[in-house]
Amino acid sequence: MDTHIVKAFGTEAPTEDLKPLSIERREVTALDVEIDILYCGVCHSDLHTARNEWRGTIYPNVPGHEIVGRISKIGTGVTKFKVGDLAAVGCMVDSCRECEQCKKGSEQYCEKGNVQTYNGYEKYLNKQTFGGYSERIVVDEDFVLRVPDNLNLAATAPLLCAGVTTWSPLKHWNVGPGMKVGIVGIGGLGHMGVKLAKAMGAHVVVITTSPSKVDDAQRLGADEVILSTSEEQMKANANTLHFVLDCVSAQHDVNAYLSLLKVDGTLALVGAPEHPLPIAAFSLIPTRRNFAGSTIGSIAETQEMLDFCGVHNIVSDIELIKMQDINTAYDRLLKGDVKYRFVIDMVSLKN
Ligand code: NAP
Ligand code: ZN
Ligand code: ZN
Repeated sequence: MDTHIVKAFGTEAPTEDLKPLSIERREVTALDVEIDILYCGVCHSDLHTARNEWRGTIYPNVPGHEIVGRISKIGTGVTKFKVGDLAAVGCMVDSCRECEQCKKGSEQYCEKGNVQTYNGYEKYLNKQTFGGYSERIVVDEDFVLRVPDNLNLAATAPLLCAGVTTWSPLKHWNVGPGMKVGIVGIGGLGHMGVKLAKAMGAHVVVITTSPSKVDDAQRLGADEVILSTSEEQMKANANTLHFVLDCVSAQHDVNAYLSLLKVDGTLALVGAPEHPLPIAAFSLIPTRRNFAGSTIGSIAETQEMLDFCGVHNIVSDIELIKMQDINTAYDRLLKGDVKYRFVIDMVSLKN
């Protein structure tokens, strides 16, 4: 298989900083497109993976799964895109396409495991996949998304993970008018959850540990805010919500958030902390509450969400950074010091 070398940023060990690396990309095969990456969002999953917090990271690791750019090359069989088109790639770049989940268009739940954009398995080169902290990426056209042309491109990048990861559960649990929905953890995912749930017509309640985000909540679209560090505010809001989306990246007491749910309410976890989260039996039993999880979203859902954002003029609130600033950005992410998503301007990688 023909390959070429591209510039990237990644890490060679859990405790090492990210630094410039050279990686191999395959040349486009018949159904591939090659994308010149313009912007890449910085997801907390990038940090969890770079530092091997979920175990199983293969090094060197090049993170990045909120990718937008312009198509620079297409394979001979490509029909959905042409050279020069804007295009985007999210958290997965392939799946088995044969299992029950793939056949019904839920590739994210592929029974053989979807192929993740980074730290996945690159079947053509028989090694790990490398993500969007790089100049270019080569992806099968079926896993490439179209980008609405009316949105700020840099601020669109985070929709590819933070957007769809909140969109998919909000849709799955039928969030809309008449529903009171809590969003916990107002980082990259959470702030998109607030914007999307509001645009879907729900009554949105922001639940945050950060006093500085209380003032921002209304601007993001929240109808109410709960400061979760206030026992009084948490008690006053017990048994009031139909659905809670938990977007927290670190250890936290899920029971406190379950207590906000009404009878039959569901808390869906999308946040993926390193260690298990204990659940008390009596957080669930007396009120028949549900505790659930959800991973990213399908390709069809991702396109649906992008088109919805185009119509409703929804993008992420971003802070644009240079590739060389990624290690500082990770430190700030850990402190919750970003409003609300870092996005890397990939031009900086050419320096
Ligand atoms: P992020 O921007 O760092 O946001 C995380 C937020 O969690 C913080 O802004 C903070 O919000 C809250 N938080 C942090 N520490 C906390 C603590 N100890 N107790 C309570 N709240 C705390 O991260 P992100 O990129 O949105 O990702 C969030 C999580 O989702 C990560 O674990 C990531 O790996 C995971 N994720 C999962 C999927 C999936 O498919 N399921 C996809 C993408 C990401 P406040 O300041 O408002 O309290
Ligand atoms: Zn992500
Ligand atoms: Zn499959």
